[in-house]
Amino acid sequence: MEIEKLKLKVKDSVELQRQQLIQLSLNIHDNPELGFEEEKASAWLASYLEDNGFHVERGIAGLATAFRAIYGQESPTTALLAEYDALPKIGHGCGHNIIAASAVGAGVASKSIIDQLGGSVVVLGTPGEEVFGGKIDMVKAGAFKEIDVAMIVHPNVLNMVAIQTLACSPLEVEFFGQAAHAAAQPHRGINALDAMILAFTSINSLRQHIKAEARIHGIITDGGEAPNIVPAHSAATLFIRALTNDYLDELKDKVLNCFTGASIATGARLEYRWGDRTYTPMKNNATLAGLFKQNLESLGRHVEAFDRRFGLGSTDMGNVSQVVPSIHPTITIAPFKVLLHTPEFAAAAASQAGHQGLIDAAKAMAMTVADILQPGMLDKIKQEFCCHD
Ligand SMILES: [Zn+2]
Ligand SMILES: [Zn+2]
Repeated sequence: MEIEKLKLKVKDSVELQRQQLIQLSLNIHDNPELGFEEEKASAWLASYLEDNGFHVERGIAGLATAFRAIYGQESPTTALLAEYDALPKIGHGCGHNIIAASAVGAGVASKSIIDQLGGSVVVLGTPGEEVFGGKIDMVKAGAFKEIDVAMIVHPNVLNMVAIQTLACSPLEVEFFGQAAHAAAQPHRGINALDAMILAFTSINSLRQHIKAEARIHGIITDGGEAPNIVPAHSAATLFIRALTNDYLDELKDKVLNCFTGASIATGARLEYRWGDRTYTPMKNNATLAGLFKQNLESLGRHVEAFDRRFGLGSTDMGNVSQVVPSIHPTITIAPFKVLLHTPEFAAAAASQAGHQGLIDAAKAMAMTVADILQPGMLDKIKQEFCCHD
């Protein structure tokens, strides 16, 4: 069967699933679960795939809410990734319900391609994207060893096929001082809160002199017990981000100096810990992105080049993109003025535009699976992955 006929067939399959996919998306949206607690979402998605003929393993890579659903037995294997975690208080302000529904929809639609052309399709349930970086654990556990190509589509305010993201490292810091009566014996105390404020002020001074795309931001999570006690303990969590891994390393040293300096100045003892999950930047596979672009445009969507106004975040898909050829396109579900991680974006993720975004994302991904299985295409994708940067 020629490829255009196959693509028509997968589009029909997504249309046939339309109501079920929208219902799945809305169910996840209405039951927001935080990272690594996505019991309902992962169960619904895994069951949907199982009911549609996929072989499902629940709880993989040491993560209870991760899953792997496969259709087909041969290589090459294309992975479609589903995220389904929500944000505290805002719910699905990142629209991961749409990522989830589009991945399973594309997976089921790809069955006819696999029946015709061989290979296999895997839908990977990847929990805890926000804050935790669950895919980093999955990469470490070898969940991508059998995968040849990986795709995920994130809802957003522009259609883009290749996005830039930042390397990101979390930092936990604590200062230990000496409690004392803040009025009667302040000279006997060591102020751990002052140490923290001093470190944050030093970081503010550093910020003028760092590269434009780099980011340093954090919150103080403990600043003392009462105004009349010199704070004996303070704590903060920060994210340090940069366009490259090299500049991230440079910046990490400079940020740490701010804390060390504050420790010396105040006498408060510093303890720190770099998070063991460092997000790496997205390595976009241009060949794969080109295929996805054509398919998305064939659905009547205008695709934009990456736009810096859109801003730079970080995603654990970056870590996946370092080990297998990957793309992380975005699909428009809201006007440009709407910001991610807001209640407005959460509303868009359950709107008609959100539904259409998930349907188009599912179609474009499944159509791209058909392209990947054309003779010579995987070699081209892998050649770019291994030999260009
Ligand atoms: Zn997010
Ligand atoms: Zn997100």
